[in-house]
Amino acid sequence: MNNIIKINKNYTYDILKNDILFLNYYFPFFKIDSIGNSTLGEKIIYIKLGEGNKKLFINASHHANEWITSLVIMIFIEKYLKLYKNKEIYKGYDIKDLWNNVSLYIVPMVNPDGVNLCLKNKKIINNKLYYEIWKDYFNELNKWKSNIRGVDLNLNYPAGWNQALKNKLKKGINKPGPRDYVGPNPISEIETKNMINFTKLFNFDMTISLHSQGKEIYWNYLNYKINKAYEIGKKLEKVSGYKLTKPVFYSSFAGYKDWFIENYRKPGYTIEIGEGKEGESLPLEKVDEIYNEIEELFLVSLEECINI
Ligand SMILES: [Zn+2]
Repeated sequence: MNNIIKINKNYTYDILKNDILFLNYYFPFFKIDSIGNSTLGEKIIYIKLGEGNKKLFINASHHANEWITSLVIMIFIEKYLKLYKNKEIYKGYDIKDLWNNVSLYIVPMVNPDGVNLCLKNKKIINNKLYYEIWKDYFNELNKWKSNIRGVDLNLNYPAGWNQALKNKLKKGINKPGPRDYVGPNPISEIETKNMINFTKLFNFDMTISLHSQGKEIYWNYLNYKINKAYEIGKKLEKVSGYKLTKPVFYSSFAGYKDWFIENYRKPGYTIEIGEGKEGESLPLEKVDEIYNEIEELFLVSLEECINI
């Protein structure tokens, strides 16, 4: 069977939605639902694979210009479904065992409006509702990270939000725009609110937030001692070749990982996939290479989740 997920187009929300429906047609044994709507009313889709008591949560595209993270996780979803269907042992991992022990929840695109804006999707460009916020940046929308309201979603969580605000104000960022605006208050954005409610509903054992870029794995928040977080981080480092590291102070607050670690005291990671031009989306030509770098990272995360 040919691959359903194709690496030939910039990955808009509509392509994502179609791909999920196609996958579900061929593999009807996984669940599709939504964590709620985006600002412009798009469903923020989640997928559930596996049947286990342990719960791993992977999310992608908090940041609009990092839409390649959505594509990479969708490639993994297709692979995992095929492996499970064929009951395979793959790279030494017993896929059936992973499937039966871990429920894998995935939000492949946290910020659909932002992704559509970044890719100049007609739906957004023709919808002038938030035009005032992005019009001055029309020629550099490929660098847009925020949601459609100009808020950086990964700076909108209530975990050191005031510190994030201070850090960004020092750099002169005090209003909606392409990146680094923390919002008028924590959880000001519907996308953030939906992610928080979704997390509260399922109580995950471990989370991974996919970002780009830098080939790095961030594993901590402040000085919280989280059981197994470092050890698992070392394993993720080993299978990917990405460097396990702590974020610099300037970028250390108000992200999903920070909020998850502070509230649940369980392992939460931010993975910066790939490497390319600063501030720009990674090109499609890099997807195969990046996927190969991190495929086993997903498998090892499932395996490690069983013993948390
Ligand atoms: Zn990011």
